[in-house]
Amino acid sequence: MFIDLDRFKNINDTLGHSVGDQLLVEVGRRLLSLLQEKDTLTRLGGDEFIILLPETNESGAGHLAESVVRALSTPYYLSGYELISTPSIGIAMAPVDGSTLEELLRAADAAMYRAKAEGRSTFRFFTAQMQQRSAARLKLEAELRRALDKRELQLYYQPQCNMQGQLVGVEALLRWMHPELGVVSPAEFIPLAEESGLIVPIGMWVLQEAIGQMREWRERGIRVPAVAVNLSALQFRQPQLVEQVAQLLHEAALPAGCLELELTESVVLEDPDDALGLMERLHNLGVGLAIDDFGTGYSSLNYLRRFPVDRLKIDRSFVQDLEQGRGIAIVRAIVSLARSLGFVTIAEGVETTAQLEQLRRLHCDQVQGFLFARPMAVIQLEAWLQR
Ligand code: C2E
Ligand code: CA
Ligand code: CA
Ligand code: CA
Repeated sequence: MFIDLDRFKNINDTLGHSVGDQLLVEVGRRLLSLLQEKDTLTRLGGDEFIILLPETNESGAGHLAESVVRALSTPYYLSGYELISTPSIGIAMAPVDGSTLEELLRAADAAMYRAKAEGRSTFRFFTAQMQQRSAARLKLEAELRRALDKRELQLYYQPQCNMQGQLVGVEALLRWMHPELGVVSPAEFIPLAEESGLIVPIGMWVLQEAIGQMREWRERGIRVPAVAVNLSALQFRQPQLVEQVAQLLHEAALPAGCLELELTESVVLEDPDDALGLMERLHNLGVGLAIDDFGTGYSSLNYLRRFPVDRLKIDRSFVQDLEQGRGIAIVRAIVSLARSLGFVTIAEGVETTAQLEQLRRLHCDQVQGFLFARPMAVIQLEAWLQR
């Protein structure tokens, strides 16, 4: 049984070693209370654990996994923090899924990834289908590797507006025009690109393309104030990133303020001290910085306050919840937090006028979503600008 605790990997960095240690002890305590004497609990490192059950069957393992999910997803109260985890569990059975420990672990790991992909806080048994899936993923990965050369990648742009409906910028969103599969969503291939490291050259291409497009718009007198580009964790850790961004802006003779980089909380918090240094260097160039999907990770307010951030992007899930009281309270809290820290707020995924009106009442600064426009190819965006 392979257990992955979400969000706890970098707890030491964000909340300090003492909380990290307490958490580990508490996780161990909860797990051990569910096990029997002949079972073995091992920590693989980080927030990954394995349990070996020498005498169990499918139903026994399934029941145990259920209890483990319940036990580990109960909130942890440590040193004044409330921590929440969404554990994902994969189960492999000997001898059908493998005969050596290594084979079993690989199978359980694949099953764990499925559990993660299917919503977390759940468990999956390894199946032969997972093997097929991983073969399909390998194929897609090989194709993605060639997609750049074959010019199958394209950027779409989605408008971002202020509350008066004026354009404040566009977000660049990747599309893969696959020759057989049609348009493949980034939600599908970005994780693949991240795992394989392909995100680095792809991300570089996105930056080049977006900056080149801004330059072209400028030359043609088309007014697009800024372009926002998504950065993934791996890209953010490239040592040359800052120089590359500076170089691209210089070559295009564009002011750095034309570019905003979007980082998610998890990218930033993975190694907050490094991130802080990098963000300061980018900020000093004049590049804008936004925190994407804000509110979905466990933001450490302590860090947030030190980061040179310009905008917080309120995650779509909160915008969707605006029709309920709880959603309103959350957005109100985010907006007031952002204000007190001097950040501009932009709500993502605005689809209805009711949401827009609510956001206006809550003093959110900017909006992006299907209500205004979908992400569009350049030609369509240009037509939209002249509407
Ligand atoms: P994201 O950065 O949170 O981007 C917003 C996503 O919400 C986009 O999905 C956009 O099409 C979608 N969206 C915008 N307005 C609405 C709305 O009103 N309703 C709904 N339901 N959805 C809306 P998309 O384009 O499929 O991108 C998915 C994710 O893929 C992005 O999420 C981002 O994390 C990643 N991604 C896209 N392009 C890039 C890229 O160039 N580099 C990296 N690293 N990641 C990218
Ligand atoms: Ca993890
Ligand atoms: Ca984004
Ligand atoms: Ca987002």
